[in-house]
Amino acid sequence: MTEELLKEKIPEFTPEKLEEGRLLFASSCDFVLGVAGLDQLPDSDRNEVAFAGRSNVGKSSLINALTGRNSLARTSNTPGRTQELNFFNLGDTMYLVDMPGYGYAKVSKKQREKWTKLIFDYLRGRPNLRCVFILIDGRHGLKDTDEELMDMLDEAAVSYRIILTKCDKSKRAEMQKIQADLKAVLKKHTAAHPELLETSALKNEGLAEFRSIITALR
Ligand code: GDP
Repeated sequence: MTEELLKEKIPEFTPEKLEEGRLLFASSCDFVLGVAGLDQLPDSDRNEVAFAGRSNVGKSSLINALTGRNSLARTSNTPGRTQELNFFNLGDTMYLVDMPGYGYAKVSKKQREKWTKLIFDYLRGRPNLRCVFILIDGRHGLKDTDEELMDMLDEAAVSYRIILTKCDKSKRAEMQKIQADLKAVLKKHTAAHPELLETSALKNEGLAEFRSIITALR
Protein backbone atom coordinates (compact mmCIF):
# COMPACT_ATOMS: atom_id res chain seq x y z
CA MET A 1 0.00 0.00 0.00
CA THR A 2 1.38 3.43 -0.85
CA GLU A 3 1.71 6.06 1.87
CA GLU A 4 -1.13 8.02 0.22
CA LEU A 5 -3.53 5.10 0.52
CA LEU A 6 -2.51 4.41 4.09
CA LYS A 7 -3.25 7.99 5.09
CA GLU A 8 -6.69 7.86 3.53
CA LYS A 9 -7.59 4.58 5.12
CA ILE A 10 -6.43 5.17 8.67
CA PRO A 11 -7.56 8.45 10.23
CA GLU A 12 -4.90 8.31 12.95
CA PHE A 13 -2.45 9.62 10.32
CA THR A 14 -3.60 13.20 9.90
CA PRO A 15 -1.14 15.72 8.41
CA GLU A 16 -0.81 17.33 11.87
CA LYS A 17 0.06 14.04 13.54
CA LEU A 18 2.54 13.12 10.82
CA GLU A 19 4.18 16.51 11.27
CA GLU A 20 4.40 16.07 15.05
CA GLY A 21 6.09 12.74 14.46
CA ARG A 22 8.51 14.24 11.98
CA LEU A 23 9.44 17.00 14.41
CA LEU A 24 10.04 14.71 17.38
CA PHE A 25 12.26 12.39 15.35
CA ALA A 26 14.13 15.33 13.85
CA SER A 27 15.27 16.27 17.37
CA SER A 28 17.94 14.41 19.30
CA CYS A 29 18.09 10.64 19.76
CA ASP A 30 20.98 9.21 21.75
CA PHE A 31 21.98 5.92 23.26
CA VAL A 32 21.57 6.05 27.06
CA LEU A 33 22.44 2.61 28.37
CA GLY A 34 22.20 -1.15 27.91
CA VAL A 35 20.41 -3.03 30.66
CA ALA A 36 21.12 -6.68 31.45
CA GLY A 37 19.32 -6.76 34.81
CA LEU A 38 16.32 -4.90 36.10
CA ASP A 39 18.26 -3.16 38.88
CA GLN A 40 19.93 -1.13 36.09
CA LEU A 41 16.74 0.27 34.51
CA PRO A 42 16.61 4.06 34.14
CA ASP A 43 13.99 5.94 36.19
CA SER A 44 10.50 5.55 34.77
CA ASP A 45 10.13 9.33 34.66
CA ARG A 46 8.93 9.45 31.02
CA ASN A 47 6.95 7.23 28.71
CA GLU A 48 8.67 4.62 26.61
CA VAL A 49 7.95 2.25 23.75
CA ALA A 50 9.85 -0.95 22.99
CA PHE A 51 10.79 -2.75 19.78
CA ALA A 52 10.79 -6.54 19.74
CA GLY A 53 11.20 -9.16 17.05
CA ARG A 54 12.96 -12.26 15.88
CA SER A 55 16.64 -11.95 15.06
CA ASN A 56 17.12 -10.66 11.52
CA VAL A 57 13.57 -9.28 11.24
CA GLY A 58 15.04 -5.86 10.41
CA LYS A 59 14.69 -4.27 13.86
CA SER A 60 17.99 -2.38 13.88
CA SER A 61 17.46 -1.19 10.32
CA LEU A 62 14.00 0.09 11.20
CA ILE A 63 15.14 1.93 14.35
CA ASN A 64 17.97 3.51 12.39
CA ALA A 65 15.64 4.51 9.54
CA LEU A 66 13.06 5.96 11.95
CA THR A 67 15.63 8.08 13.73
CA GLY A 68 17.58 8.90 10.57
CA ARG A 69 20.77 7.67 12.19
CA ASN A 70 22.77 5.02 10.43
CA SER A 71 24.35 3.29 13.36
CA LEU A 72 22.22 4.04 16.40
CA ALA A 73 21.02 0.45 16.71
CA ARG A 74 23.73 -1.94 15.65
CA THR A 75 22.86 -4.08 12.67
CA SER A 76 25.98 -6.19 12.78
CA ASN A 77 25.26 -8.00 16.04
CA THR A 78 25.59 -11.76 15.90
CA PRO A 79 21.98 -12.93 15.96
CA GLY A 80 20.83 -13.94 19.40
CA ARG A 81 23.90 -12.63 21.17
CA THR A 82 22.59 -9.31 22.42
CA GLN A 83 20.89 -9.95 25.74
CA GLU A 84 20.42 -6.34 26.77
CA LEU A 85 17.61 -3.85 26.62
CA ASN A 86 19.08 -0.81 24.90
CA PHE A 87 17.60 2.55 25.90
CA PHE A 88 17.60 5.56 23.58
CA ASN A 89 16.58 9.05 24.67
CA LEU A 90 14.31 10.57 22.01
CA GLY A 91 14.13 14.36 22.18
CA ASP A 92 14.45 14.30 25.99
CA THR A 93 10.76 13.32 25.90
CA MET A 94 10.59 9.55 25.80
CA TYR A 95 12.68 6.38 25.66
CA LEU A 96 12.88 4.03 22.72
CA VAL A 97 13.84 0.56 23.97
CA ASP A 98 15.50 -1.93 21.66
CA MET A 99 14.76 -5.40 23.05
CA PRO A 100 17.10 -8.31 22.34
CA GLY A 101 16.08 -10.32 19.27
CA TYR A 102 14.66 -13.80 19.82
CA GLY A 103 14.06 -17.01 17.90
CA TYR A 104 17.64 -17.61 16.85
CA ALA A 105 18.01 -21.38 16.50
CA LYS A 106 21.56 -21.64 17.82
CA VAL A 107 20.84 -20.02 21.18
CA SER A 108 21.28 -22.36 24.16
CA LYS A 109 18.37 -23.23 26.43
CA LYS A 110 20.05 -21.31 29.24
CA GLN A 111 20.36 -18.17 27.14
CA ARG A 112 16.75 -18.47 26.05
CA GLU A 113 15.61 -18.78 29.66
CA LYS A 114 17.68 -15.72 30.56
CA TRP A 115 16.01 -13.77 27.74
CA THR A 116 12.54 -14.84 28.83
CA LYS A 117 13.17 -13.85 32.43
CA LEU A 118 14.63 -10.45 31.57
CA ILE A 119 11.79 -9.64 29.19
CA PHE A 120 9.01 -10.89 31.40
CA ASP A 121 10.35 -9.02 34.45
CA TYR A 122 10.72 -5.88 32.35
CA LEU A 123 7.21 -6.12 30.89
CA ARG A 124 5.57 -6.66 34.26
CA GLY A 125 7.48 -4.03 36.16
CA ARG A 126 7.53 -1.02 33.88
CA PRO A 127 4.54 1.29 34.41
CA ASN A 128 5.71 3.85 31.84
CA LEU A 129 5.90 1.28 28.99
CA ARG A 130 3.11 2.41 26.66
CA CYS A 131 3.45 -0.05 23.82
CA VAL A 132 5.62 -2.87 22.50
CA PHE A 133 6.01 -2.98 18.73
CA ILE A 134 6.40 -6.55 17.58
CA LEU A 135 8.19 -6.56 14.25
CA ILE A 136 7.17 -9.31 11.86
CA ASP A 137 8.74 -9.98 8.47
CA GLY A 138 6.00 -9.14 5.94
CA ARG A 139 6.88 -12.24 3.89
CA HIS A 140 6.79 -14.75 6.72
CA GLY A 141 3.99 -13.85 9.11
CA LEU A 142 3.85 -14.98 12.72
CA LYS A 143 6.17 -17.63 14.15
CA ASP A 144 5.67 -19.54 17.40
CA THR A 145 8.17 -17.36 19.25
CA ASP A 146 6.22 -14.24 18.26
CA GLU A 147 3.07 -15.74 19.72
CA GLU A 148 4.91 -16.63 22.92
CA LEU A 149 5.79 -12.96 23.30
CA MET A 150 2.20 -11.96 22.52
CA ASP A 151 0.99 -14.31 25.28
CA MET A 152 3.48 -12.74 27.70
CA LEU A 153 2.23 -9.28 26.79
CA ASP A 154 -1.42 -10.28 27.20
CA GLU A 155 -0.59 -11.67 30.62
CA ALA A 156 1.34 -8.57 31.68
CA ALA A 157 -1.47 -6.38 30.23
CA VAL A 158 0.99 -4.38 28.11
CA SER A 159 -0.40 -3.02 24.81
CA TYR A 160 1.33 -4.10 21.64
CA ARG A 161 1.11 -3.55 17.94
CA ILE A 162 2.39 -5.52 14.97
CA ILE A 163 4.68 -3.74 12.53
CA LEU A 164 5.45 -5.52 9.27
CA THR A 165 9.02 -5.17 8.02
CA LYS A 166 10.80 -5.53 4.65
CA CYS A 167 7.53 -4.94 2.78
CA ASP A 168 9.52 -3.95 -0.33
CA LYS A 169 10.31 -7.66 -0.67
CA SER A 170 6.74 -8.91 -0.41
CA LYS A 171 4.44 -9.82 -3.24
CA ARG A 172 1.09 -8.09 -2.87
CA ALA A 173 -1.10 -11.22 -2.99
CA GLU A 174 1.07 -13.13 -0.50
CA MET A 175 1.13 -10.12 1.76
CA GLN A 176 -2.66 -9.84 1.76
CA LYS A 177 -3.03 -13.47 2.77
CA ILE A 178 -0.45 -13.12 5.55
CA GLN A 179 -2.13 -9.96 6.81
CA ALA A 180 -5.59 -11.54 6.84
CA ASP A 181 -4.24 -14.51 8.83
CA LEU A 182 -2.46 -12.17 11.22
CA LYS A 183 -5.55 -10.07 11.84
CA ALA A 184 -7.52 -13.19 12.67
CA VAL A 185 -4.90 -14.17 15.26
CA LEU A 186 -4.81 -10.66 16.72
CA LYS A 187 -8.53 -10.86 17.50
CA LYS A 188 -7.74 -13.61 20.01
CA HIS A 189 -5.19 -11.51 21.87
CA THR A 190 -6.54 -9.12 24.46
CA ALA A 191 -3.70 -6.56 24.52
CA ALA A 192 -3.11 -6.40 20.75
CA HIS A 193 -3.82 -3.39 18.56
CA PRO A 194 -6.07 -4.60 15.70
CA GLU A 195 -4.30 -2.74 12.86
CA LEU A 196 -1.08 -3.63 11.05
CA LEU A 197 1.45 -1.19 9.67
CA GLU A 198 3.54 -1.99 6.59
CA THR A 199 7.08 -0.63 6.60
CA SER A 200 10.27 -0.81 4.62
CA ALA A 201 13.45 0.60 6.13
CA LEU A 202 15.08 0.19 2.74
CA LYS A 203 12.47 2.17 0.80
CA ASN A 204 11.47 4.54 3.64
CA GLU A 205 7.90 3.30 3.55
CA GLY A 206 5.52 3.56 6.49
CA LEU A 207 8.13 5.42 8.50
CA ALA A 208 6.26 8.73 8.75
CA GLU A 209 3.23 6.81 10.02
CA PHE A 210 5.31 4.82 12.48
CA ARG A 211 6.86 8.03 13.82
CA SER A 212 3.43 9.53 14.39
CA ILE A 213 2.20 6.36 16.17
CA ILE A 214 5.18 6.58 18.53
CA THR A 215 4.82 10.33 19.03
CA ALA A 216 1.19 9.92 20.10
CA LEU A 217 2.45 7.71 22.96
CA ARG A 218 5.00 10.13 24.41
P1 GDP B 1 17.81 -7.27 13.22
O1 GDP B 1 18.60 -8.51 13.52
O2 GDP B 1 16.36 -7.48 13.48
O3 GDP B 1 18.33 -6.04 13.88
O4 GDP B 1 17.87 -7.07 11.63
P2 GDP B 1 18.77 -6.08 10.74
O5 GDP B 1 18.26 -4.69 10.82
O6 GDP B 1 20.21 -6.31 11.07
O7 GDP B 1 18.42 -6.62 9.27
C1 GDP B 1 18.61 -7.96 8.90
C2 GDP B 1 18.79 -8.04 7.41
O8 GDP B 1 17.60 -7.61 6.74
C3 GDP B 1 19.91 -7.16 6.88
O9 GDP B 1 20.57 -7.87 5.85
C4 GDP B 1 19.20 -5.95 6.33
O10 GDP B 1 19.89 -5.32 5.28
C5 GDP B 1 17.89 -6.55 5.84
N1 GDP B 1 16.79 -5.56 5.92
C6 GDP B 1 16.43 -4.82 6.98
N2 GDP B 1 15.39 -4.01 6.68
C7 GDP B 1 15.07 -4.22 5.40
C8 GDP B 1 14.07 -3.68 4.49
O11 GDP B 1 13.25 -2.82 4.83
N3 GDP B 1 14.05 -4.19 3.23
C9 GDP B 1 14.92 -5.14 2.81
N4 GDP B 1 14.81 -5.57 1.56
N5 GDP B 1 15.88 -5.66 3.62
C10 GDP B 1 15.96 -5.22 4.89
